[in-house]
Amino acid sequence: MRVLKFGGTSVGTVRSLSNVKKIVESIEEPCVVVVSALGGLTDRLIAGAEMARDGNAEYRREVETARRRHLEIIEALVSPPRRKDITARIEELLAELTRLYEGIALLGDLTDRTLAQVVSFGERMSSPLVAEIIENATYYHSPDFIRTERWFNKNIADTALTDRLIKETLGDGGFRRAVTGGFISTDRDTGEITNLGRGGSDYTAALIAAALGARVLEIWTDVDGFMTADPRLIPDAFVVRHMTFIESMELCTMGAKVIYPPTIYPVFHKNIPIRILNTFNPEAEGTWITDEHHGHALVVKGISAVRDTTLISVQAQGRDSTDTASRAVNAMAKNGVSVYLVNTHERDAGFAFAVAAPESGTAVKILTDEFGPELSRGEMENISVSYKLATIAVVGEGMKKRREMQESLLRGLAASGIRVLATSDGTSDTTLAVVVPADEADRAIETLHCLLFADKTVGK
Ligand code: ADP
Ligand code: ASP
Ligand code: MG
Repeated sequence: MRVLKFGGTSVGTVRSLSNVKKIVESIEEPCVVVVSALGGLTDRLIAGAEMARDGNAEYRREVETARRRHLEIIEALVSPPRRKDITARIEELLAELTRLYEGIALLGDLTDRTLAQVVSFGERMSSPLVAEIIENATYYHSPDFIRTERWFNKNIADTALTDRLIKETLGDGGFRRAVTGGFISTDRDTGEITNLGRGGSDYTAALIAAALGARVLEIWTDVDGFMTADPRLIPDAFVVRHMTFIESMELCTMGAKVIYPPTIYPVFHKNIPIRILNTFNPEAEGTWITDEHHGHALVVKGISAVRDTTLISVQAQGRDSTDTASRAVNAMAKNGVSVYLVNTHERDAGFAFAVAAPESGTAVKILTDEFGPELSRGEMENISVSYKLATIAVVGEGMKKRREMQESLLRGLAASGIRVLATSDGTSDTTLAVVVPADEADRAIETLHCLLFADKTVGK
């Protein structure tokens, strides 16, 4: 059994959807197809909701555009006898969306819950439509089996319940090709529509692959595979044929947009390989992500960046800063704040760590609560926050042993005049992370890519 996920880039147009149809219909074994909303539609749905909130009637035009896009696809790709039902279904959903927008306009208010309802229309429309396009396909409504729970201010998957529901719904294999929507879910307690976060269709596919014990999880997108850097920024970036789960997890957590980060864990846990493939070039080999570590292959697999990070530094004169830093990181984790880099290089003088800028206020509060006694006794002081930074990650298993390579990369950055404000200390076995000013991030990535992959002696 295979699980295939097609992102917005693959379901955006008549042309891309005909590729999807061809790819899926050429598969003999049973498969589950997970699809995103039509490319760009989720952004437009959000824009429409904001217009409605601000009293701008242009939101109606957004509904019209969505209608036109779906109808054009029906016209081109659904066989005539089946057009009527799917058209009626799309029209019904658009009418519901219009009523929702009208409600938002009337109240002049847009809550997170209402926004979750708005964005759900993307996948609620695309998935039954794709099921009509593909021969021998059965449609399944994913909010029936993807369930979330509240965790701090986020919705996260209730993996145990979701696993059971997926098995109950799809486990009997009563389909040749199942088609379902990614991203959308239901709150397990309130029954309200929720979602797994932007880019979350990948995660839906992974939860299904893990629950059903799929042979492979295929992420179909618009590039030939996982590349050494974002190809939009680095034209010389090239496809990496193989990387480990850990490497891909690290690259995606550190900003590579190829896979939504929580996706990797469920399949990693079940040792189900992930393949990254190109809908527009299905013959390309793509990237395999498995648990195998090819020691002889390219050491560094890629460079990624989390833009808009802040660096929080603490002075801790005379205390073992490794100890205090790990307490700080644990406190962040317990409170749902992700830490991108920890630096304890001045062992007895303090430590620093990077977090996403929108979380820095929460991070300082957590730190102040955790170290209240130490701060009041003056054993720790000067929690300071530096803004407008980016954290860049150079990823490859075995990084720790590559001290010399790490140092040469840092020298290379310095030689290019890039200010490195903190590094990850060489503590991670997989990642060298550096914090640089946000406006130097692109140049830092270019420099690192050139050092690692133009002069192959460094990367190998
Ligand atoms: P989808 O709609 O298929 O989910 P995404 O836009 O989420 O597609 O992800 C694919 C995009 O990720 C590519 O078009 C590419 O521009 C971008 N990207 C960023 N970093 C990388 C990388 N290291 N390798 C490949 N693509 C990358
Ligand atoms: N449609 C959603 C988004 O644009 C989910 C996804 O595409 O994975 O974020
Ligand atoms: Mg994506």
